[in-house]
Amino acid sequence: MTAPNSLASMIFRPSNCVDILNHVIFRQSGVIQEAVEFSDRQWSTNLPSSMEPTPLLQTSHHVPEDNPQMQLMKRARAMISFDVQKLTAVIFGSEEAARDHEDVRLDHELQMEETDPSILPRIYRGSGRKKQYHDGLMWGKLYLEQDSLNSRFVSYTPKYNIFSASPFGHQLELFGATVKLLGDEEQCNHCTFAQTELGHGTLVRGLQTTATFDPFTDEFILHTPCVTATKYWPGGMGYSASHALVMARLIVGEMDHGVHAFLVQIRSLVDWKPVTGVDSGDIGTKMGWGSVDNGYLSFDRVRIPRRHMLMKNTKLSANGIYTPSPHDKLLYGGLTKGRVGVALTAAFQLAQPVTIATRYSTVRQQGYMGGVEEVPIIQYKTQHARLLKHSATSYAILFSIKDLSETYQTHTSRLEKRDLSLLPFTHFATSGLKAICTEMAASAAEDCRRSLGGIGYSFLSGIPHIVGDITSLVTVEGENYVMYQQAARYLMKAVKAVREEREVHPSLAYLKSFLGNACPSNTNFEDTNAQLQLYQHRAARLLFECHDALSSLSGTPEQLWNEYLLELVAATRAHFHLFLLESFLRHVSHIQDASVKRVMKHLSDLYALTEVVYSSEGSLGFVEDGYLSQRQMIRIREIIRQKHRLLLPEAVGLTDAWNFSDASLQSAVGQRDGNVYKTLMGWTRQLPMNVEVRREGGVENIGYQKYIQPLMAVGRVKSQL
Ligand SMILES: Cc1cc2nc3c(=O)[nH]c(=O)nc-3n(C[C@H](O)[C@H](O)[C@H](O)COP(=O)(O)OP(=O)(O)OC[C@H]3O[C@@H](n4cnc5c(N)ncnc54)[C@H](O)[C@@H]3O)c2cc1C
Repeated sequence: MTAPNSLASMIFRPSNCVDILNHVIFRQSGVIQEAVEFSDRQWSTNLPSSMEPTPLLQTSHHVPEDNPQMQLMKRARAMISFDVQKLTAVIFGSEEAARDHEDVRLDHELQMEETDPSILPRIYRGSGRKKQYHDGLMWGKLYLEQDSLNSRFVSYTPKYNIFSASPFGHQLELFGATVKLLGDEEQCNHCTFAQTELGHGTLVRGLQTTATFDPFTDEFILHTPCVTATKYWPGGMGYSASHALVMARLIVGEMDHGVHAFLVQIRSLVDWKPVTGVDSGDIGTKMGWGSVDNGYLSFDRVRIPRRHMLMKNTKLSANGIYTPSPHDKLLYGGLTKGRVGVALTAAFQLAQPVTIATRYSTVRQQGYMGGVEEVPIIQYKTQHARLLKHSATSYAILFSIKDLSETYQTHTSRLEKRDLSLLPFTHFATSGLKAICTEMAASAAEDCRRSLGGIGYSFLSGIPHIVGDITSLVTVEGENYVMYQQAARYLMKAVKAVREEREVHPSLAYLKSFLGNACPSNTNFEDTNAQLQLYQHRAARLLFECHDALSSLSGTPEQLWNEYLLELVAATRAHFHLFLLESFLRHVSHIQDASVKRVMKHLSDLYALTEVVYSSEGSLGFVEDGYLSQRQMIRIREIIRQKHRLLLPEAVGLTDAWNFSDASLQSAVGQRDGNVYKTLMGWTRQLPMNVEVRREGGVENIGYQKYIQPLMAVGRVKSQL
């Protein structure tokens, strides 16, 4: 295989570009060639003479061209006041890491034949379940064959994110992490992580699959005792995994020891057929994750050796003596890592629709705003306020997850030395941040889709796919409302500790200085300390109120907990909003480049203050106890107005910094150069149905002969028109 960097540097040389593409595409993709040729003929015959036909494989991206949209994009880029590449380095950690990432990505795009933006991307060339699955396998194979890809794309984009774009994602993410934490060397293998059952997902204690120990043969018997015990959802389990890490109840004699992890072979390594007693398959079309065979799995008394229970922490001896794990939460170490990955994915997956929507809004003209020329829609306050807010959110998520990753690394290195001291805090922080980051990203991505108007509803905009994928993040690795509750339990313990004058984690020290007073009238809301105090006040007040409520009324703790669940979730959100803001401010303060720092300070101000006055649940938290006055809210809105003005010229730069290629966005209207309409029409003409029908003379024959013609014959169609 060609070294990634050499291919990437070839493609960087413009003179080589078209040659390489012609070679790769014509040698390997007859279908595409036909589609493009046909599309070209259409351009030349059907379009007004003012519109030039698209030359075969030589689009605007290879031959200089200009149109009003591209000019608008150039003009927008000329207004950016900071060094975009420097911000890219902040995102990826360093300039070298950013360059390295780009090289690998370009090489990958070349191998996937996705480098020419004039050609309809693979994901839109057909939607059959099998085709999607094969695309996912192809991408996963490429990923597994190239070590260099692994770290780059785990959280990168929905198309490149191994987790949701390939059946092989789970074996690397969940399975790998869990086996490393629980198993020993001998047990490490590739497979899927089979926890969720038809009857239970959230309540792991409720799982019904059994693993019964047979001391006579030194084996476990895996069994699905009822329909609700069927494993349902695990990625890659349908047809792609040879093994499954199955969460099942350990039964020894009469004793049920609860849920443990077992490594079970589900397919033969010789002919890939399911092993005797295993029934598995695909669960069908979902909102996203089209390329992944999320599957079902049931066992009919399948035997595995005793050694295949993961025994790094929990043990079962040959004579049936059970030694429990020192800490039950250790079992979910793999999920904790998964939550960090999911939240990081949310940052990149949100930055994609923000990039698409910002680019399209920069070149899409609609309305006159009192002038004589139509204005780009980004100039409307509602439009740019939405997009800048979502842009700020993508950075806030990114920075908070960088901080969370550090906590997670410290925790895992302590774990190696059997030091569990950071486990409760890590579990708390990963649960709460996973919930808030994915919740914010999913709703912001959907708002980006809506901000495109009609085209946002078309898959060719690139956003529906992302929305489908990003929406899953609120459910996977722990459903968000359940995650909030787990974090709330830790927070309630912290409030209790503060009230009893015991120590709490430093990140919760703000609870100790809560005074319950009003915000000073002379507060400067652009001061970062003042912003933090706002957020600290809100979180502390809501948390103390929850603690009071839980302690004061009668009822069982469980009933009271359920009674105040809405307040607990709101208070927990408030705490994690503070976490996000602290991370944002900390990372901005560390930025070296003055121009980037200036713009990012405006963005963090916008992020901090928008939550205060323009979020329904959020705003209430700041005002209902009289902490902020009406005058202060008006003052904050003024600052936001000013930030919008300052940041509008930077909007394209703030999204360019994520450095998404056209191939990774797969959006006709999110083209980097602004050439949106020509790309959109080019792709539309290449849609398989249009290519086929044109070949048949412009009539969709089956539909016409079977349905339209008979209706015409009895005069129905005519009478309804
Ligand atoms: C794309 C995708 C990929 C997946 N991949 C895998 C995989 O690889 N392996 C695997 O094992 N599973 C996988 N899953 C399953 C996933 O982990 C579960 O769907 C998830 O844990 C939620 O469980 P559930 O579906 O049973 O929802 P439920 O628990 O039934 O939740 C339904 C609703 O009830 C609420 N609820 C439930 N319990 C409580 C409570 N205690 N308090 C308050 N509210 C509650 C929830 O908030 C939610 O609104 C995947 C799911 C998806 C969508």
